[in-house]
Order: sequence, then C-alpha cells, then structure tokens
Amino acid sequence: MDFDMLGLAPRLIKELERQGITDPTPIQAQAIPHAMNGRDVMGLAQTGSGKTAAFGLPMIDMLLKEQGKPEGKTARALILAPTRELAKQIQENLAAYTTGTHLKTMLVVGGAGITGQIRKLERGVDLLVATPGRLIDLLERRAVRLGDTKFLVLDEADQMLDMGFIHALRQIAPLLAKPRQTMLFSATMPKLMGELAGAFLENPIRVQV
Ligand code: AMP
Repeated sequence: MDFDMLGLAPRLIKELERQGITDPTPIQAQAIPHAMNGRDVMGLAQTGSGKTAAFGLPMIDMLLKEQGKPEGKTARALILAPTRELAKQIQENLAAYTTGTHLKTMLVVGGAGITGQIRKLERGVDLLVATPGRLIDLLERRAVRLGDTKFLVLDEADQMLDMGFIHALRQIAPLLAKPRQTMLFSATMPKLMGELAGAFLENPIRVQV
C-alpha cells in the first residue's frame, strides 16, 4: 500500500516522499480513500497515529483540484482542535504538507494577539486551524466568514467535549457551507460522541485502528 494507491495527486506524493513519508499509517490507509470520495469520516485514533495527515492530505488534494482561492475573510477548510498546542502542531504539519503549493495555512488560538490575526484573515486562508473560543471571538468581530467553508475537521473531539466546547461547536457548525464534508477524530468514543456525530456528520463511515 502506498499513497499512490490512495488516489492522492503525484505532486503531493512527491513532497511527502521528500519529507520521508512514504508508507501510509493504518488510519491513513483506511480514512483517505473514503475522504477522497467525499464521505464524512468518524475516526477512532490516538495522537501519533498519523491522523493529521489522514484528514489533512485528502483536504489538501481536494483544495488543489478545485484550484480556487479563498476570498477575503474566508477559509476554505476549518480544523478545530481543543488546545493551543494541538492546534499549533496541526497547523505546522499542514504547512509542511502544503510546501510548494499555493495553499495558505493559518493558526488562530487564544493567548496570541488578536489584531494580527484579524489583519492576516483579511486576505483569506485555505486551511484555518483554530481553537473554538478564539474562532467565536473572531466571528463575533466579523473578522472571518465561514459560508464558503466546505471542509470541517473536529480533532480530538472527546477532549473538546470534556472541555465544554459543545456549545461553541453548535454555534460554529451551522455557519459553514451546505453541503460540507466533515471529519471527526477522537481517541475515545464516549456515549455523547454519538450525539455529536449525529449533529455534525452525515452518514459517516467509521474507521478505527
Ligand atoms: P499525528 O498522529 O498526526 O500527530 O502524526 C504524528 C507524526 O507522524 C507527525 O510528525 C507526522 O509528520 C508523522 N507522520 C504522519 N504520517 C506519516 C507516515 N505515513 N509516515 C511517516 N511519518 C508520518
């Protein structure tokens, strides 16, 4: 099994190879083909399993194929994570995977100055990685619009529930484009996750490692 067989664009595969990423991890092998087919995905996977690439690579591939550019104050894909540290890691990985493409990634988290984030968002972004609290702040200031956002990832969803972000998620998700593609990843699947998935995913395929 290699990335070629998963249907990713050759230029993306070349860049991954350059970074020493040649063999898909099990969660990547399972999730990527479904994601590339446009399915909503619900993945049970731990940190370190390669889940960032599992949701990131199909999104990058689809954004490259669409050839569009984000309008000002918009994001083409939104990735939500529970903590600043995790969001930063995700953004760094996505920035590495998009090396050599025109795709722009951006991180918006609390604790960092909001003025700089507002200014940077004015140009629009392809892949926006955010913590829910700061994103809501930016939405309320009308610094970002999500009506063109066709891809949504909820990463470490169990932790987001534990941290009480359910209300924020319920506020954010309806603002996105319809239809959209949603992927949810979680290290555990507590009962409440079924409810979350029911609210935010449509006919998801379940993958687990
Ligand atoms: P993650 O589980 O997404 O936090 O990824 C953990 C680490 O594994 C990151 O540093 C990735 O760059 C790396 N990684 C992801 N996929 C692969 C792969 N298929 N082969 C080698 N390394 C990978």
